[in-house]
Amino acid sequence: MRGCVAIAGLAAIAALSPLAARANEAEACTAGTTLTLSTPESSQGSLLRIELKSTKTLAEVQGEWGGRSVPLWSEKGGETQRKGLLAVDLEKAPGEYELKVTGQTASGEKISCSLMVPVRKGLFATEKLQVGKQFVEPSPEQIKRADEERQKLRDIFDHVTPERLWDGKFRIPLDGVTTGSNFGRRRILNGNPGSPHGGADLPGVTGTPVHATQRGRVSLAEELFFSGNTVVVDHGLGVYTFYGHLSEIDVKAGDLVDAGAVLGKVGATGRVTGPHLHWGLTVERARVNPLQIVKLLENE
Ligand SMILES: [Zn+2]
Repeated sequence: MRGCVAIAGLAAIAALSPLAARANEAEACTAGTTLTLSTPESSQGSLLRIELKSTKTLAEVQGEWGGRSVPLWSEKGGETQRKGLLAVDLEKAPGEYELKVTGQTASGEKISCSLMVPVRKGLFATEKLQVGKQFVEPSPEQIKRADEERQKLRDIFDHVTPERLWDGKFRIPLDGVTTGSNFGRRRILNGNPGSPHGGADLPGVTGTPVHATQRGRVSLAEELFFSGNTVVVDHGLGVYTFYGHLSEIDVKAGDLVDAGAVLGKVGATGRVTGPHLHWGLTVERARVNPLQIVKLLENE
């Protein structure tokens, strides 16, 4: 698999020890409600599914984890249920964080749930490279441009569209591709650790159609310094997907796209060594492995 920066080198896997597993029991809440997670423990960059079930009709329900709100939604016929996504940022400090769900039933009974969710270190590859200085340091103009673009993306991901625009399961954006690589990989250039790789790289030749993983609204469709021709899709509830290095962009900001719509074509624009799709997923500003949402919501 080709990487996202124009440098090649040695790869070493940093093995990290997992913490002890926790029991995966449905946690009781008040008012006949239970809260269940798809897995009892989490690691950096992972995504968990939340299920809230009640014996009573639910009215409003909110979730909060580690100071950030948690997207929760109901599906058809789901007056007594809510689903949600718990997203663990790639660089969230390992530890235990309390998941709190509060709200009330239709009859006004208060709902309150509390669950400690452990976060362990992610198992990510590390690459140590020694390269010429000119490859490590972009020019001041390039740094300024990249900083402005980083802020622009941060502003997009900070905005939470209150309605859910997706409906059903998420797909991998390239036909026939079942996996990706490099999520969380960290490069150490001449002894200096860089930012971890925030998405999955999917293999594809230039010109391969790139499909929207689900329905949403295009938030950004333009050329950026690092990721080249880039499309960002807002799926609502703070869920965004990112598609980078495209050879061409076939949508524009503001477009509402259906699941599977062609957003552009695979390419090698931006800081890359060869054609591939850089696919990212951000949930409530947390960068998580996009491949996980495909499996987590496959029974929708
Ligand atoms: Zn990438």
